[in-house]
Amino acid sequence: MTDAKTDRIGPRSTVRPEILFPLFTPVTNLTGIGPRLAKLFEKLAGPNVVDLCLHLPSGLIDRRYAPSLAVAQAGRIATLTLRVGAHQSPHTKRQPYRVVCHDDTGSIELVFFHAHPDYLTKILPEGAERLVSGRVEVFAGGLQMTHPDHIGTLAERDEVMKVEAVYPLTTGLTQKTVGKAVAHALEKAPDLPEWLDPAYRKKHGWQDWHAALRQAHAPGEVEDLSPLTAARSRLAFDELLANQLALALVRRHLAKRRGRSITGDGRLRRVTVEALPFKLTSAQDHAVAEILAEMAADTRMLRLLQGDVGSGKTMVALLVMLAAVEAGCQAAIMAPTDILARQHFKTMRPLAEKAGVGIELLTGRDKGKARQAIVGRLASGESALAVGTHALFQQDVEFHDLALAVVDEQHRFGVHQRLDLTSKGHAVDVLVMTATPIPRTLMLTAYGDMETSRLMEKPAGRQAIDTRVLPLERLGEVTDAAARAMAAGAKIFWICPLVEESEAIDLAAADQRHADLQARFGERVGLVHGRMKAAEKDAAMTAFAEGSIDLLVATTVIEVGVDVPAASVMVVEHAERFGLAQLHQLRGRIGRGSTRSSCLLLYQSPLGETARARLRILRETDDGFRIAEEDLRLRGAGELLGTRQSGFPEFRVADLAVHANLLAAARDDASLVINRDPDLQSDRGTALRVLLYLFERDAAVRFLSSG
Ligand code: ADP
Ligand code: MG
Repeated sequence: MTDAKTDRIGPRSTVRPEILFPLFTPVTNLTGIGPRLAKLFEKLAGPNVVDLCLHLPSGLIDRRYAPSLAVAQAGRIATLTLRVGAHQSPHTKRQPYRVVCHDDTGSIELVFFHAHPDYLTKILPEGAERLVSGRVEVFAGGLQMTHPDHIGTLAERDEVMKVEAVYPLTTGLTQKTVGKAVAHALEKAPDLPEWLDPAYRKKHGWQDWHAALRQAHAPGEVEDLSPLTAARSRLAFDELLANQLALALVRRHLAKRRGRSITGDGRLRRVTVEALPFKLTSAQDHAVAEILAEMAADTRMLRLLQGDVGSGKTMVALLVMLAAVEAGCQAAIMAPTDILARQHFKTMRPLAEKAGVGIELLTGRDKGKARQAIVGRLASGESALAVGTHALFQQDVEFHDLALAVVDEQHRFGVHQRLDLTSKGHAVDVLVMTATPIPRTLMLTAYGDMETSRLMEKPAGRQAIDTRVLPLERLGEVTDAAARAMAAGAKIFWICPLVEESEAIDLAAADQRHADLQARFGERVGLVHGRMKAAEKDAAMTAFAEGSIDLLVATTVIEVGVDVPAASVMVVEHAERFGLAQLHQLRGRIGRGSTRSSCLLLYQSPLGETARARLRILRETDDGFRIAEEDLRLRGAGELLGTRQSGFPEFRVADLAVHANLLAAARDDASLVINRDPDLQSDRGTALRVLLYLFERDAAVRFLSSG
């Protein structure tokens, strides 16, 4: 988390407004929360009071039902007024402690396991009247209540007999502890200045922030838990507005810095296109033209190139990079992994060389003298093109005149890294490429209103992939099919899952599969996984792409882009453990050559509802955009790309599956604000600053030029 006060960037005040101090204080400042509980609360919601305020209830318990015992319904939560009768201590430890209670219409037994008799005689003295609330059960023909939630005096009736919010928990925290902490947190929540447009707020009938927050924590009926209530919608809109406003500020900051007009004469591009063994698709032509037009303008480009796996983004990137070179400048492309950077380099180098353009590869693996030589050629301008990983924006890497930065598989980098690369040159244009088809809604949250070029059409001659879904028990048949495919000359990717939480087990499983397959097919079987040394990985990949290896057992390291056109079969073990988008990406690694490809998705039974739906969608369609939309629907945005490091913001109140319309409204509102009051100086602007801090978009505030 960024601490505004220690934020080193920005000359002027970027300090959190004082009005928010009570919210940005650690939860340990709440009554009853010490360091031990604080750890659990941090895990549950976050470290500060504000995090508890935004931890909304997921259910409710209605304690208003107060029947007499004669009519009390079993299974319901009830608040009973009882006369305490005899205590019955158990004979053995295993038996529960029982207290018989009465009202004028009947009796009920209160049941306690592992009881502390002293405590129970104190809170339930024989002969006293007590208010007892909990779930009524029928046991052996009589009424009983096991471990009542509340036991109190009749004076506490108003406090107990109400609807109680139920909160999501984490191990070690009880409903009672969380409920109390949230209540205390809410007491600290101040009234905040209104940052919403009054007309918009009125149109929706929304309360002010403070009232909406309280309302969201006080459900009276089940319907009040819906994300569509006025209270929750308002809070969700606030969150989305903070997100969109922050993005709009970053964007304006980039746009404001003057760009430069880059126009090539086409000579390098011509040579390159002629050297290609294929014709560009019209989608590629169109994207290149769009990008060139924006590079030619004297504003800063920040554009997204979106295209499904295999749609040919790399070629688009190369062509626009060459246009920068034609204009006498340099261009760089940055990939998220070594393997992918190498892949790009391999594709681009022969074409660059044919055009007479120097090209360098720079990754974290390059060290010492060799690295110095590369860095030197980029600094002198001798090499006009650079391909690499984040190694490209290490401190000592300088360019002679970088005009265009292409960032591949963008969602794996953060916003800051994106900005870092632009600092390597003077008015650098940025093109972001993403292979993951991202639904429009998610795009907006991650990039704001960013110009987009899309490659909707795939190169001609691609054959549909035959996708089948099979239980793991049929592994034997799958191996036989693999044998037949290899006999017919096919190359096979065999994917095993690998996730951090179970890395050791997963690695062992991949090793074992490699050993099993090698026992049958001998040295034609290779292995590559993320834990191998870089050189070993390269060797295995090269052997698979170019020669002796025909079946490559791999963990997901190949997921992001290795191109082996001869690979026509893919087996995915434990397909149920992969995300939909991830499976789509994986599958995109085959079906690139001219032979018909097949993909076998093996699952472990029994298959859950969602996993089944996911695999069905993959069998039905190869359309990345449709797959992405379905994924969003099935899993919700937070999970869509699997991990936190996906670079997509995670929302706490907003749910993109239901609040898409609010997102669009927030985008429009943010752009209106930026146009009218770009430095947030008006009253509403000042309130919006509070909003940015409230949702910890502190970093965006530094882009304001004064105030
Ligand atoms: P992406 O990065 O979008 O997944 P690539 O740029 O890696 O796709 O291209 C996938 C494959 O398609 C590469 O082997 C590339 O050479 C080839 N390719 C690119 N454009 C075309 C085209 N217009 N016609 C035929 N093949 C193409
Ligand atoms: Mg690619």
